[in-house]
Amino acid sequence: MMREPFFDDKKILVVDKAPKITNDRTWCFWEQGDGLFESLVYRQWTEVDFYSTHFSAGLPLLPYRYKMIRGIDFYRHIQELAKEKTNIHFLYEPVMTTGTKDDIAFVELASGTYTAKYVFNSILFQQPKLHTGEYMLLQHFKGWVIETEMPVFNPGKATFMDFRVSQEEGTTFMYVLPLSATSALVEYTLFTAKLLSQEKYTTALKSYLEKYLGIAKFKIEHEEFGIIPMTNHVFPSIEGRVIYMGIAGGQAKGSSGYAFQFIQKKTAAIVANLIKSRFPAQQINLKERKFRFYDSVLLNVLHYRKLNGDQVFASIFKKNPPARVLRFLDNETGLWEDLQIMNSVPTGVFLKAAMQELFR
Ligand SMILES: Cc1cc2nc3c(=O)[nH]c(=O)nc-3n(C[C@H](O)[C@H](O)[C@H](O)COP(=O)(O)OP(=O)(O)OC[C@H]3O[C@@H](n4cnc5c(N)ncnc54)[C@H](O)[C@@H]3O)c2cc1C
Repeated sequence: MMREPFFDDKKILVVDKAPKITNDRTWCFWEQGDGLFESLVYRQWTEVDFYSTHFSAGLPLLPYRYKMIRGIDFYRHIQELAKEKTNIHFLYEPVMTTGTKDDIAFVELASGTYTAKYVFNSILFQQPKLHTGEYMLLQHFKGWVIETEMPVFNPGKATFMDFRVSQEEGTTFMYVLPLSATSALVEYTLFTAKLLSQEKYTTALKSYLEKYLGIAKFKIEHEEFGIIPMTNHVFPSIEGRVIYMGIAGGQAKGSSGYAFQFIQKKTAAIVANLIKSRFPAQQINLKERKFRFYDSVLLNVLHYRKLNGDQVFASIFKKNPPARVLRFLDNETGLWEDLQIMNSVPTGVFLKAAMQELFR
């Protein structure tokens, strides 16, 4: 069944396989000042601890703040905003495919096909097929929001990467994001090629809580599990009138897995273009290419295990002010600051990896 064009400049149809009604993820990201979703920020920190066997320190983040938004608060907020608009409609049904035919975008559902001026697609229909020289590490993590009887956490300070845990599987660290003196989100995170058994994440979380935080007794209030691709694979960003968004549009940073702020930036650029009645998206620019190259070099180093991530991140944090590192991870540094970051990691290993990436 071919339906009448749903989308004109005014109507928006949001299709998802199911309504977003659970707190299925917690987003953390850094930002200067207040952002678009400031009212949703659940907790934030201006100071974090970094730990590794090579270097440990408290890192003052200002002018940045490390912020946390709970998925469920975000979903409710968006639904509330959408309710105020009569032109936004939600439809809960699996999408089979999207595409462009005769310069018209379409979305194919079991119940029929919708056509539109543009389709913004954040569905990764299949895992990307990697070409020669492309790597994919998985950032996989299990997090618990725990509640303790005694006050053990400092709500004013988060732990941003604790690499003191075993590095046997590859780059592995913990986040500790305190919600109060007796509650925190503790997340066991790995950058490796393969997932672990669920039991291994659980054992690692328990042993970290006991060994480093002295917590043997706690209640698990909430659990989350996630997998984010860390890759130098080039995802399509535009195909005809289909614009790829989010992870499906390659907006997770290849070398860190952070995606939330990159998605917001891309979305803001799309909105700005639509307001000016321009085509909503552009192919990636020179600056994005530069950072993709840097991501590729780090992925090369981690993939071939030339160095472990704890050594790399420890060197970078040891030799640079935190704000510069965050700017670099945000793809916001210029060449001078890039060179200072590069100068802080083992040059021989990175130069060799850079040459391999340049000539692959
Ligand atoms: C648990 C978890 C924690 C994360 N934490 C952080 C973090 O702290 N910081 C950060 O920067 N990034 C984080 N990320 C990474 C990234 O920010 C999130 O994955 C983000 O939600 C990606 O947005 P997206 O739009 O690409 O995908 P999603 O938010 O997953 O949206 C895709 C949507 O498509 C729908 N869908 C899928 N297939 C179909 C289909 N066939 N038909 C119809 N609908 C379909 C899904 O239901 C979903 O609603 C996290 C990811 C996870 C999983």
